[in-house]
Formats: sequence, structure tokens, C-alpha cells
Amino acid sequence: TVKRVHNFYSGPAALPLSILQQAQAELLDFNGTGMSIMEISHRSKDYEAVHNRAIELLKELLGIPAGYDVLFLQGGASLQFAMVPMNFLAPGKKAGYVMTGTWAEKAYAQAEKLGEVFIAASAKEGNYRRIPSPGELNYGPDTAYLHITSNNTIFGTQWQSFPETGAVPLIADMSSDILSKPFDVSKFALIYAGAQKNLGPAGVTVVIIRHDLLDRANKKVPTMLRYETYAKDNSLYNTPPTFNIYMVSLMLAWVKEQGGLAALHRRNQEKAALVYDAIDASNGFYVGHAQPDVRSLMNITFRLANEDLEKKFLDAAKQAGFVGLAGHRSVGGCRASAYNAVPYESCLALRELMFTFQKENW
Ligand code: PMP
Repeated sequence: TVKRVHNFYSGPAALPLSILQQAQAELLDFNGTGMSIMEISHRSKDYEAVHNRAIELLKELLGIPAGYDVLFLQGGASLQFAMVPMNFLAPGKKAGYVMTGTWAEKAYAQAEKLGEVFIAASAKEGNYRRIPSPGELNYGPDTAYLHITSNNTIFGTQWQSFPETGAVPLIADMSSDILSKPFDVSKFALIYAGAQKNLGPAGVTVVIIRHDLLDRANKKVPTMLRYETYAKDNSLYNTPPTFNIYMVSLMLAWVKEQGGLAALHRRNQEKAALVYDAIDASNGFYVGHAQPDVRSLMNITFRLANEDLEKKFLDAAKQAGFVGLAGHRSVGGCRASAYNAVPYESCLALRELMFTFQKENW
């Protein structure tokens, strides 16, 4: 059997063993073609079936209503930070951003280069421990769009419910929690997510966009930076990242096999609880960063008493076969990213490690 570590990387992150094995088995001869999926034209029937299957599965799993398109882009979520304002921040209008962490700041910084922006609410004070309440969001009815980050990968906070924005288009960066739980897509005008957490390997970005927003987009934007280009040609205007989309299709089939988003949500709650309970039961040996009411199910952030002890903990973790537990370089501490593909057993093992380490170092 293969040796697999307890992988808590924040992204690129763990993928289910079964889909890696399937990709391996199909690598030399995909579906009887005598080629790998990487070697097949993106205009062929064989590839198109994979492409469309990925789109259909995503629509089915997320319950995407009619009137939305699913698009595959490149450039990561970071390119979306710029594409959103390029397409939808019209002159004379202002876009609102909810600041809940580093990625929200980066999105804001790109929009600021392209048009008028304002901060609709911020949780920066206290170092992004919380998520602003719906009542705190301050924006007018003529706002171009309101941008939120559904899960804050670095700080470990997650929106527990989404705001009702009425006629103001709601746009969300869901890079680090898409597919982790069911939610109502119809609240959103646009959703984007880099693939490398819950969707597959890095290299493709999924965009879900409502048609009325497409109609309003700036037509002067260069072709490859317009959502319209991807929507019109089913994301086949030019060569898409075919292997990545194939991997996304395998990942989505796996999500379905697991019972879909409701089943994964339950399991994600159980997995995260194993680690949060170890924090809460530690009498302050481990201190969680996020305010408990907005704790992320995907990224669990915590600190120990000092950096020496944190280093000792991370060393012990490494010895015991854990990978990826260091916090983001900008905040330090520890972070366990427990995305969909991270097994329950890995979270259980982490909990045991935390108990043992505390006993030995208290
Ligand atoms: N948004 C969020 C919430 C993220 O977690 C990340 C990456 N960790 C990004 C954006 C940036 O994504 P990319 O590297 O795909 O540009």
C-alpha cells in the first residue's frame, strides 16, 4: 500500500486517494482512446464529454438554478480580483468590499486601481477574528456590487449565513469553502473559486455567473478578460486547462459519491469539532484565533503560548507524519486545513497529537 501523510496544507491541498488512483489508471489510455486526457484535442468529443460532465455535476451538486453559467478560467482567484472590477465596476458607480482578511484586502486593492471602491464593513480591528454582522454592512442601493470572501483561509473565519443584498449584486470569493456545505446560489450574482482546495489541482478557476450580470458587463475589456467570452463558447474560446478540468470532474464525481454537500457538511463539522474540541479542552494551552461563532470548518487556526513552543509542536507533528500545519507566514501560529478530501482519521490523529503534546509540555 502507498504511504500517505496527514495532509493539512491550505492549498494546494489533499485530494482523495481514489481519484488520484483513477487518474493514474486512466493516464496512458483514457476511455479507450489510446491517449491520455492531456493529449486529446479540446475540440474532440472525448474531451468535451469530460468538460460538460464537470459543468453538469457542479450545477447538480450546488443546486445552481437556471439563469447561471459555470465557467472555467485560468489565472487563479487572484485574477478574479481584477476581472470582477474590470467587468462590473462602471464609471460613476462604487463597489463595496467587506474586509475579512488578507484575500479580501487583495481583492479591494485590485478594484481600487480600476474604479471607485469603499469598505462596506471591516473586521481588521482585532486581526480578523470575526465576521461583520449583516447590520454592520454599509452600502447604498446604487452600489455596483458588494464583494465578500466566504471563508478566510489565513485567519480561519467563515461566514455562517450570507447577506440579503436585494438589487445590489453580491459577489463572493469562495476559493476555500466551495463544496464544503450547501448554500443558496441564487443570492449571488457571481461566485469564483480557485480549484486548489475543494475542487482539484491548481490551474483552473471556477466562476458561476448570473446572466443579467453578463449583460451589464463592460464591453471594452480585452477578450480574454471578459466573462462573456467564456460564457459564449462554453469556456472553449481558447484551449482550457484540460487536465485540470478532468481532475475537477473526478473530484465532483467523488463529492457526489460521498452523498453530496449535506453529507460532506456533516462530516466537515465532525472533523473540525475534533480539533476545535482539543483547543477548547486545553485550558488555554492552545488558543483559537477565530471568534467561536464564526469558526471555519475548513481552516482551523490556533496558537500556543510562544513561538518556541509552536516550533516544538510543529516539529513533533512533522515527526508524527503531519504536513502543512504551520500558520500562514503573515500571521504565524498553526493552521490545520481540513478540506473535503482530508480524511476523518487525519483529524482524529491531529486531536490525539494535540492531547499528547499538551500532556508532555504543559
Ligand atoms: N482567495 C482565497 C480565499 C484564497 O484562499 C486564495 C489562495 N489561498 C486566493 C484567493 C488566491 O488564490 P490563487 O492563488 O488561486 O490566485
